[in-house]
Amino acid sequence: MTTAQTFVIVGAGLAGAKAAETLRHEGFEGRVVLVGAEDERPYERPPLSKEYLRSDPAREQIYVHAESFYAEHDIELRPGRTAVDMSASLKEVALDDGERLRYDRLLLTTGSEPRRLAIPGGELDGVLYLRSVGDSDAVRERLDRGGSVIVAGAGWLGAEVAASARQRGLQVTIVAPDAVPLERVLGREVGGVYRDIHAEHGVRLLLGRRIEAFVGDGSVERVRTSDGRELECDFVVVGVGARPRTELAALSRLAVGDGILVDEHLQTSARDVFAAGDVARAQHPLYGERIRVEHWANALRQGPVAARNMLGAAEAYDRLPYFFSDQYDVGMEYSGFARSWDRVVFRGDPGSREFIAFWLSGDRVLAGMNVNVWDVVEPIRRLIRERVPVDDWRLTDPDVPLEQLARIGGGAAA
Ligand SMILES: Cc1cc2nc3c(=O)[nH]c(=O)nc-3n(C[C@H](O)[C@H](O)[C@H](O)COP(=O)(O)OP(=O)(O)OC[C@H]3O[C@@H](n4cnc5c(N)ncnc54)[C@H](O)[C@@H]3O)c2cc1C
Repeated sequence: MTTAQTFVIVGAGLAGAKAAETLRHEGFEGRVVLVGAEDERPYERPPLSKEYLRSDPAREQIYVHAESFYAEHDIELRPGRTAVDMSASLKEVALDDGERLRYDRLLLTTGSEPRRLAIPGGELDGVLYLRSVGDSDAVRERLDRGGSVIVAGAGWLGAEVAASARQRGLQVTIVAPDAVPLERVLGREVGGVYRDIHAEHGVRLLLGRRIEAFVGDGSVERVRTSDGRELECDFVVVGVGARPRTELAALSRLAVGDGILVDEHLQTSARDVFAAGDVARAQHPLYGERIRVEHWANALRQGPVAARNMLGAAEAYDRLPYFFSDQYDVGMEYSGFARSWDRVVFRGDPGSREFIAFWLSGDRVLAGMNVNVWDVVEPIRRLIRERVPVDDWRLTDPDVPLEQLARIGGGAAA
């Protein structure tokens, strides 16, 4: 590895920032250029729907690194610059200010962006989306004014925004086509627990219906739903999922398909080009298929693995998916990956809001979610990863330590 080499990272979010940090940590002495479309230096998004949204913002706390970090580590951070074109054959990236960057290795960490609701009235003032810190500031400014908000969508983002808005004292209505919140990931049974939590906190849930139009004169005043209702509101927050930002990769004819396709080393279909974080659909050694994970821990861990592989390592990314969410006084962590399952069993009473749910197929645990129960992620991961056969009664009996079930002490770390 010579000092004359240039490694370019496009996308200055969490994955990109951690990759840049890792390149220096691993002793890379060449040029590191980190290009980010946003004016901010890299920051973390999870607080934007939670504490940052609810309270007086402590902006410094959201950043991945101190302001001085990039200069101190000779990382050329280019905030407010968008990569508009790339050529994998010329090994070049073009920025929106006309600069062309030649690279020896390129990492794409372009993340994802909110899916838009393409319905009448979508352009009205007060129809808000939430991805960036600026978006969060705009939603908070509306929360400060009080009144009523309609949240379109009952996924993680919608559920967290609804909780934050209730905590700020607004009237909150969730409108979503699903039968229960978080149905797609958690299924009806566990999603039902979240429905009850929101209902207990005074959220009106209008499920099983869609928003068909936003109505208003300049600003949104009402939404029209698929069951013919018109609901009044002061503003709307839309959280109907995200789509990976693959445009740049597609320009250079990299293989894409719901994300940039990468192998287990996070290498794209082009030599010397890697991808990580929300945008990457990565071959997962444990699952034997490509999966795309839109979660903080995935960006945090994949960035460094991609960086080491840019330096010539051949490290497979094989961590189990993991994510967390906080709504009201209910915190949870979810480990694993389950598209379909036979049954869900509970350790503890879901009504008490302190329990662990397990998604099973046969006698194997596919995923586990601990709710207001802490320090159990490690044994849950081992149960999943090592495919330990389990009996339901032992899994659900709180007197049987999870560590015992997971045979802590044998096997590799998750
Ligand atoms: C409000 C909110 C709350 C969340 N809460 C949680 C949570 O509780 N738990 C959890 O696990 N996950 C959560 N997430 C998800 C988590 O934040 C993401 O998985 C993570 O941010 C992904 O990081 P990333 O670096 O891959 O992409 P991003 O964070 O999307 O960063 C990508 C960056 O690349 C830039 N970019 C894109 N294209 C270009 C280009 N052509 N040129 C230059 N720059 C470009 C973008 O502007 C962006 O800054 C939340 C996300 C949001 C939005």
